[in-house]
Amino acid sequence: MYLKRLEMTGFKSFANRTELEFVPGVTAVVGPNGSGKSNVTDGIRWVLGEQSAKSLRGAKMEDVIFAGSDSRKPVGYCEVSMTFDNSERRLPVDYTEVTVTRRVYRSGESEYFLNRQLCRLKDINELFMDTGIGKDAYSMIGQGKIDEILSTKSEDRRAIFEEAAGIVKYKARKKEAEKRLDGTEQNLSRIHDLIHELD
Ligand code: ATP
Repeated sequence: MYLKRLEMTGFKSFANRTELEFVPGVTAVVGPNGSGKSNVTDGIRWVLGEQSAKSLRGAKMEDVIFAGSDSRKPVGYCEVSMTFDNSERRLPVDYTEVTVTRRVYRSGESEYFLNRQLCRLKDINELFMDTGIGKDAYSMIGQGKIDEILSTKSEDRRAIFEEAAGIVKYKARKKEAEKRLDGTEQNLSRIHDLIHELD
């Protein structure tokens, strides 16, 4: 599996639809200061569900939408699509290519799509679970990330190994099952109280 394509429209400095094609192997993005290199990685993190404007180097989420320039008016929405080659079926869906898309309007309304079908962020998170791909996963190593990993708490470091070992989805399912069990136990306890009152 590898990243095949990144398309950005109205995202940060990419006012026009911009398409980057990647090939297997190493790709280097080069350009002068301020030309938008980091905006490309911001786009990748954003489409994977990043919710923190600060970690996208903005003050509020609206800052990811092209804000206008001397020669261009601001735009009303932005969209980023990221396409993976899935010919080896590493992602558990029966498609050779998988495209995830996020769109946001100035009103704050945000939408996610999987292969152009409207979906929830949860669906995207579940799809990439245990692959190392994700807004906080180890496939994105930003500046200072190595230091952060080394100095972080051992439990946090353990999460990285768990993702690599492929057990995160089982832990997530266990947590959901425990939540449901908890709810059922509370309902049962309420029923017992009612029975007690009726007796
Ligand atoms: P450096 O090499 O200095 O790290 P870079 O190539 O990584 O630079 P970026 O930080 O990706 O550059 O891009 C910064 C540029 O993006 C700035 O010119 C900034 O004005 C522009 N930019 C960021 N957000 C927006 C926005 N919402 N609308 C328009 N332009 C934006």
